[in-house]
Amino acid sequence: MSEPWCEVGDGVFVRRHASFDLNVGLVVGDDACLVVDTRCSLTEGRDLAAAVRTITPAPWTVVATHAHFDHCFGSGAFVPTSLWAQERCARAIEIDGEADRERVAELYDRSSQPDVAQQIRQSPLVVPDRLVDQHQVLDVGGRRVELRHLGRGHTDHDLVVVVPEAGVVLAGDLVEEGAPPQFRAAHPLDWPATLDALLAGTTADTVVPGHGAVVDRAFVRAQRDVLQNLVHRGTQGHAEGAPVEDVARDLPDLGEFAEEAVRRTYWQLDR
Ligand SMILES: [Zn+2]
Repeated sequence: MSEPWCEVGDGVFVRRHASFDLNVGLVVGDDACLVVDTRCSLTEGRDLAAAVRTITPAPWTVVATHAHFDHCFGSGAFVPTSLWAQERCARAIEIDGEADRERVAELYDRSSQPDVAQQIRQSPLVVPDRLVDQHQVLDVGGRRVELRHLGRGHTDHDLVVVVPEAGVVLAGDLVEEGAPPQFRAAHPLDWPATLDALLAGTTADTVVPGHGAVVDRAFVRAQRDVLQNLVHRGTQGHAEGAPVEDVARDLPDLGEFAEEAVRRTYWQLDR
């Protein structure tokens, strides 16, 4: 339990992990707390649950920002609990969770980390039972917390968590710091507008990305512009029949993920 909590707003804590550079959020109210994302595995989830207990003894509720393993496979450590998520997140875990868990475990097997593969395989899939369509207000020990689905982006079910009185937004992987955004399940054409909606819906200036350092609104705007440029170049390349690699070469901000970003953009344009 080596990673410290950092208080980024009144009673709002972030724990940034060496594993995947993942951020987990914790909102602390009078007699309740809210945990935002649960890490990669039951083992990591247990470490997180113990870390929560160094901050508060209050009963927890959990939110999953999206269904990717690094954000929710630790949920078993928090059971029994209410687990909030967007409706399609619950469906993704229910329908694809098992295959996804095996896919991730095999990646660890192939990278000679059989112990981590084993931890992933032993992590129970917890299907969210409290579902959000677009907007849900929670009372976390007297504090107002808003769960918002603002449109498709990193996935088709990203949920952001807003703590208005603390001026903090936990953005999940709609925002990433330290590495380019990830596109494996992304909807690039929708993503810029989703970030516009994030900025328009709150005045909060402390934005907690799914991975990396805590950022501000200006960073989100800059990431939005990078994604808008992808949409622009991708749409142009698609119309011209340009190969994915050629378009990707013009998108240095997306680094090693540029080809996947263009491929997902083409995929969306072909639908
Ligand atoms: Zn993700």
